[in-house]
Amino acid sequence: MSGPGEYWIGEEEKEQVLDVLSSGHLSRYGVLDDPDFKHKVYTLEKEFADYIGTNYCIAVSGGTNAIYISLLALGIQPGDEVIVPGYTFCATYTAIIFAGGIPVLTEIDESLTINPDDIEKRITPNTKFIIPVHMLGNPSNMDKICEIAKKHNLKILEDSCQAIGAGYKGKKLGSIGEVGCFSLNNHKTISSGDGGLIVTDREDCYKKSFAIHDQGHFPLRAGLELGKREIMGMNFRMNELSGAVALAQLRKLNKITAVLHRKKNLLRDQIGEIPGMRWRKLNDIEGESGTLLTAIFEDRNRAQKVAEKISSKTVNHSGWHVYSNMEHILYHLKKVGQPHKKGILPRTDDILSRSINLSVGVVDAGLGSGFGININSTEEEIVNVAKKFRESVLNT
Ligand SMILES: *Cc1c(COP(=O)(O)O)cnc(C)c1O
Repeated sequence: MSGPGEYWIGEEEKEQVLDVLSSGHLSRYGVLDDPDFKHKVYTLEKEFADYIGTNYCIAVSGGTNAIYISLLALGIQPGDEVIVPGYTFCATYTAIIFAGGIPVLTEIDESLTINPDDIEKRITPNTKFIIPVHMLGNPSNMDKICEIAKKHNLKILEDSCQAIGAGYKGKKLGSIGEVGCFSLNNHKTISSGDGGLIVTDREDCYKKSFAIHDQGHFPLRAGLELGKREIMGMNFRMNELSGAVALAQLRKLNKITAVLHRKKNLLRDQIGEIPGMRWRKLNDIEGESGTLLTAIFEDRNRAQKVAEKISSKTVNHSGWHVYSNMEHILYHLKKVGQPHKKGILPRTDDILSRSINLSVGVVDAGLGSGFGININSTEEEIVNVAKKFRESVLNT
């Protein structure tokens, strides 16, 4: 178990999957008014685009692929530089690298998302994209990022993999940049085991992404003419079984977020104010997704000791989410002549060494949130977890 969506797999998912299985039609393509074609992937795309508020959505096989496809669709060229925070899942970097780009690592701030003040100094004539990552469900500072992107003519791709359903100043994340990418792996807010979603308002980008995700086809494989194919594609399709689960999960998303916010507020209020410790800065308090609660300490040693007491780790120890622990990525950066040593982002290193993630909905030791609550925790359990954390901090 990991993400809140997985905790809530139930009758709705079973019903959707059985609907597909009894139809015997497992591929995403079919004739929409054929009663034996249940068009779950198609419906998921329509409902998700409505939910996010974009013109288009394409369901794909994973979040990493979603980012990779989108970069290609946005026209990335070999050697293009992509500004990206030093705190993100390694998939953001690998998607950039596989698409031919160069990740340019950038500092975070106490929101644990990209630090807008550090972006402009990273810009060179080769910079083409900014990928803000809405880490741990917290929206990046999109006003400032959009301003910088506009000034320097950069495209924004929102890595919203950890922030499905979250928003920023009234807009859903994923709808602010050129393209938004989401993941449905088991660690995320909602899940279909694996899966990804791409959203965009741009028709050209939709068409290109669709073609790349399926052998160069036009959207929904409609109207393809031999002899007129302009784009080559691969196969990153989602099938109807995954689509069925994702659809049932999407229909629970608002409820999941509401419950997480309620439980998170209780956990936070029960822990209360403690001198020398503050909560992660939220760029939109109501908009963030409520999947995690992050404490930031003034003193690094105290943070390390508290983490030990609750059998957890400070965030800087994550091997999958902190640039400095990603030997394979650093090795690649060295090869392409980018800064590649531990310590190249001192502010990021410092903040993460003082931070502890408490799970609210995403229980994942890899993310440093092995300690905390989950979406099914009772009030009594939440009070106990809060008490344990508070005492650990006060006695350290
Ligand atoms: C999970 C995640 C991804 C990749 O998603 P997959 O579906 O596992 O491929 C990309 N970026 C971030 C920030 C993530 O957390």
